[in-house]
Amino acid sequence: MELKKSVLIGIGVLGAIGIGYVVYWDYMRHNNKEFRNKWKRGRKKSAKRRKAAVEVAKDRITNFVKKAVDEVSKESFPTDVTAKEKYFMDQVSNGETLLAEGKERHLDAALCFYKALKVYPNPVELIMIYQKTIPEAVVNVIYEMMSFEVKKKKAEYFENFPPRDMNVRVEKISESSSSDDHIRRGLFATKDFWPGDVIFDEQPIASALDPDLETGDYCSYCLKELSGDPINDDTDLFEAVYCSKTCHEKAMSEYATLLFTNRDKTGKESKESQLVHLVKSGNVKYPLMIARFLAKMVHEETQKVITGEEEEYSTWDHIERLPLLNVPPNDKETNEIKLLRELFAAKVPGMEEFISEERYLMLKGKLMYNSFGISTTREIRENTQEMVRTSESSVIGAGFYRVASYMVHSCDPNIMINFPNRNNVISVVATKQIKAGEELKTSYIRVGNRTLESRRNELESKWKFRCTCAKCLSESTSD
Ligand SMILES: [Zn+2]
Ligand SMILES: [Zn+2]
Repeated sequence: MELKKSVLIGIGVLGAIGIGYVVYWDYMRHNNKEFRNKWKRGRKKSAKRRKAAVEVAKDRITNFVKKAVDEVSKESFPTDVTAKEKYFMDQVSNGETLLAEGKERHLDAALCFYKALKVYPNPVELIMIYQKTIPEAVVNVIYEMMSFEVKKKKAEYFENFPPRDMNVRVEKISESSSSDDHIRRGLFATKDFWPGDVIFDEQPIASALDPDLETGDYCSYCLKELSGDPINDDTDLFEAVYCSKTCHEKAMSEYATLLFTNRDKTGKESKESQLVHLVKSGNVKYPLMIARFLAKMVHEETQKVITGEEEEYSTWDHIERLPLLNVPPNDKETNEIKLLRELFAAKVPGMEEFISEERYLMLKGKLMYNSFGISTTREIRENTQEMVRTSESSVIGAGFYRVASYMVHSCDPNIMINFPNRNNVISVVATKQIKAGEELKTSYIRVGNRTLESRRNELESKWKFRCTCAKCLSESTSD
């Protein structure tokens, strides 16, 4: 029983925590390509007369894969550790029995191994074990299943998200161009609202104070103005302060321990200190938000391994469909990328490769395009040079949200953005009567008495679009 032994060894070395999920999908994409290429090569070699038979076999596999993945997706898997272990061992041993029964049972065997993957805490590792221990043809069927599962989940994303109780859904905007790369989406109400009604509240994926405000007046985690005694941490190079024990603990576990606790004892300036310097001296919040975002992703993966529980969609899945700005690479970004890669490389296996230039710029472009300015104070503060969506003059930081991001701009919006708890939780409130099915629109800029030209200029220079909202069109003679 070679496989069982390998799996047991695998469980033994499970201690190392990687960023399984992300690496896993990248890995899958790569493997599928290889698989497809192999398949193509194989087909070229095969004689013409065998072509029909191959097609039939391929169809049989494809149909089997679809049916199996659909069924497995409806199955509920054990959640406690002992039951999971049992389920896992049962599937693996069933798979082995079926393998031993010959080629005819290969598809059924693949299904067992695929099911075993669903409860195994580190799928990448298990796949590597499979590659060494079971026939290649069977491993390839498992890849097909995983790849089909990813496609299925992606296709169903907007059916499952946002959750129904948020009273909104995301839809394609009809007048948009047909090019798939630039699908424009908007956020639509799923029920009627009256002016003053809260449509939804939302926690950010990542948020940050303007770094020049990290001086002790606001909570570094939730951005609330501090009243009582602030909480801080001697080990924290960033010297953040927090409004409560809860904020302190959340920040430490989600990102601060990873990013700002210096473990370099060589006396050289550590990467952690360099990051503090980059953020504070440049007063730039986006590199900080990206660092927190990446650290939080690692945290999510770690939690998944520890608790064995998994959200249906990862943070990465959530941001994938959001619009973005094109950020051309320059020295500033090259520097940011280099620093983050080095900082993460020493702590999390796989992250150095993950933080590619392309990915970093994409992430930055998403943060810049979608982040909302957070106003938790009445103090008037002119905005810093970094762009955020806001119509306020008291912005102290930025928040990046999964759902609110989908709202498009209008100079005559039907909602307003509030921060009712005076922290980073955003609240979308109707300012007009909104019927179910109507699109929600927010203003990315301060409108006031500004002229058409002034509004359009700001939108064009920051968000790179020419506003053709109803207000702009009614004021314009040329359009
Ligand atoms: Zn706080
Ligand atoms: Zn406009």
